[in-house]
Amino acid sequence: MDDQRPICALTIAGSDSGGGAGIQADLKTFAAHRVHGLSAIAALTAQHTRGVTAVEVPPTAFLRAQIDACFDDFAIGTVKLGMLANASVIHAVTDALEHYRPTHVVLDPVMIATSGARLLEAAALDALRTRLIPLATLITPNLPEAELLLGTPIPDITAMREAIHGLQRLGARAVLLKGGHLPGDGDVVDLFAQGQEDVCEIAHPRLRIDAHGTGCTLASAVAANLCRGRSLQASCIAAADYVHAALRGGYRPGRSEVVVLDHF
Ligand code: PLP
Repeated sequence: MDDQRPICALTIAGSDSGGGAGIQADLKTFAAHRVHGLSAIAALTAQHTRGVTAVEVPPTAFLRAQIDACFDDFAIGTVKLGMLANASVIHAVTDALEHYRPTHVVLDPVMIATSGARLLEAAALDALRTRLIPLATLITPNLPEAELLLGTPIPDITAMREAIHGLQRLGARAVLLKGGHLPGDGDVVDLFAQGQEDVCEIAHPRLRIDAHGTGCTLASAVAANLCRGRSLQASCIAAADYVHAALRGGYRPGRSEVVVLDHF
């Protein structure tokens, strides 16, 4: 009998009690793309629009139980990885991915929130670099994350063009390097690289908005597009368009000026 189950996307990431980032942003993004979303919660944050007030990491055996439950019953097209908190969690997630070998793994190497809160222990950087990144179909670092991964500053677009090759050498199949942190008034330029192909520039007008959850949303939108059968490059372009539109429609649910994205 044909397998009639719809393709699902699984997010393994952190929960944001404020509903703007993390698992909550991932599931809203999957739903907006009409992809059924599954979740395995790797960390819990107590959080609002002004910052993170507490973090709790569930036992890795329970994380693995959530991942096993998802693979045991659903047709998973893409796994999206977000906040993984520490090296033990990274090892548990890598072990599970080595076991299940999903078609696509989109890795958002979440390290430090825009508010300044640390979402990955510094000691976990090595495990991320050596164990998880080589398993990824795509990694989506922003510039501060790429600087930590490569140990070198990336002050301008020329340095970004060099950095993307350094990031490719870490072993992921493709890299989407996000340029939103570069100073200036010009377009925001993200770079996409896959294998030996020419680096592709994805540009959007810069929006002067203090937003929360853009990185989670971008990686989830890539994952949803991959689930729907698009190529890696087409998925990245569509995801960047989605984030831009969601930012334009963003709203302020909390008491600070911080905007969350519109997924409706
Ligand atoms: N909280 C969680 C659980 C996250 O996964 C992330 C980012 O991935 C953040 C907060 C930070 O989001 P932002 O840097 O957009 O504020």
